[in-house]
Amino acid sequence: MFHSGSNGRSFHSGCPCCAPRGGVSRRQFLCTTAIGAVAAPAIAANVIAPAKAQQAPSGAAAPGRPILIKGGCVLSLDRAVGDFEQADVLIEGSRISAVQPNISAPNVEVIDAANTIVMPGFVDTHRHMWQGILRNVLPDGSLVDYIETVQRKFGATMTADDVYAADLLSALGAIDTGVTCVLDWSHIHNTPEHTDAAIKGLQESGLRAVFAYGAPQTASGRWQDAAGNKYPGDIARLRRQYFNSEDQLMTLFLASPGAAPDQIMPIWRTARDAGARITIHVGNTGEFGRSAFLEKMNAIEPLKSDTTYIHCCVLNDTEWKLIKDSGGTVSIAGYVETLMGHGRPPIQKSIDTGIRPSLSVDVETSVPNDFFTQIRTILSLQKNEAWARRHAGDKNPPAFLTARDVLEYATVEGARANGLERKVGTLTPGKEADIILLRTNMLNVMPMNNAVGAVVTSMGPQNVDTVLIGGKVMKRNGQLVGVDLARITRLGNEAQERNYRNANIPNKRI
Ligand SMILES: [Zn+2]
Repeated sequence: MFHSGSNGRSFHSGCPCCAPRGGVSRRQFLCTTAIGAVAAPAIAANVIAPAKAQQAPSGAAAPGRPILIKGGCVLSLDRAVGDFEQADVLIEGSRISAVQPNISAPNVEVIDAANTIVMPGFVDTHRHMWQGILRNVLPDGSLVDYIETVQRKFGATMTADDVYAADLLSALGAIDTGVTCVLDWSHIHNTPEHTDAAIKGLQESGLRAVFAYGAPQTASGRWQDAAGNKYPGDIARLRRQYFNSEDQLMTLFLASPGAAPDQIMPIWRTARDAGARITIHVGNTGEFGRSAFLEKMNAIEPLKSDTTYIHCCVLNDTEWKLIKDSGGTVSIAGYVETLMGHGRPPIQKSIDTGIRPSLSVDVETSVPNDFFTQIRTILSLQKNEAWARRHAGDKNPPAFLTARDVLEYATVEGARANGLERKVGTLTPGKEADIILLRTNMLNVMPMNNAVGAVVTSMGPQNVDTVLIGGKVMKRNGQLVGVDLARITRLGNEAQERNYRNANIPNKRI
């Protein structure tokens, strides 16, 4: 089918290379369709047969039956698969087996995707989930306030039961907002029991979690002062006990503290001995930020591709080049960086260096738990910088970031930084089915004029209708599936009260 674009140029509606960037047909504007997806995977051919599809009841699909997500506007975010104004996604077991229009498959559970955008779940590369019971505690706090109160008071006195409740609450909250994978930057391992509790909370939630094992919290700020400290050596036990396969929902990282390079390199070696990737905060405020830390680390042992660098706001040019040349990944927590004084979110710097960053919420103590906030923040900050340079007369200003760019940062780049790019991040046949359905027939979006624009410009957590993780339905018709909310509420409230009591902080909500 050929259309004539409003710019007068003919283009094929099924070909992404022909899609004009300027004037577009209404159809093209809504949701571009890619020819790549016509190359349906072989497995799809095996299941295509006269439809005997049945409508799934609300709630989880019956175990063992394939799931067919039918008739949604599909943003695969895989450039080879492309996007579709209307298509189906077939899921067999935990994996996507086909993405194309008009799939007909026998004996499937059908999820009606009419009036929704179907896309990969958001991927967060850095969130301190042990703070799930401390949400919104510091709306006006700086980084210093955060360290003094959240880490050295609440964190230092948190019990294992508190950590379990917090991680469970944070994980369920993530799923509820369409974040299907989170790296839990977990620096609350005051004892091994705290570690077991955090893992239990994540496991129970059903989230695709990357557990990044970090140091304890203490009143002094020195993790070595924790009486029950087993960091970092206990990572060997975690590998044996919980993470003995990479082919599972939860995977293992090491969350590295920032300190003198000669203290940190042995910790990185412990991670690598355990086969764990590494994540570390660098280039935020203070002496640590501008200390050329990465240059010093690189002098001891060259940086590797197994490391994610968080914030990076005040890194020097040599450090940026080291990250790029080593193949490392970057996590920008744009909202918190503007709020708490980390420095300017290095979006343009990252782009200039040739690195497509991933995104992160960081702390729910002062940041909303959803990714709509993150993508809008990143888009707005970069464009503000690009505009400022234009207005200042810069003859060679940076290109504007696009809405699609930030969606890719929030999905496929997140998967890459979490070491999961072969498993998730796009709707690609063969990948695990981490999928969200975002409702377009709601008052904040309708009528939809542009699918990517609908997600990035108009939507919020209220549009998250359905969530699947590894092919399992976690949310359906706007409700989490199989979650006892009364119990979760009780666990959260009890942990919150206990933590305030142990931290000797009055629990005044006003
Ligand atoms: Zn952080």
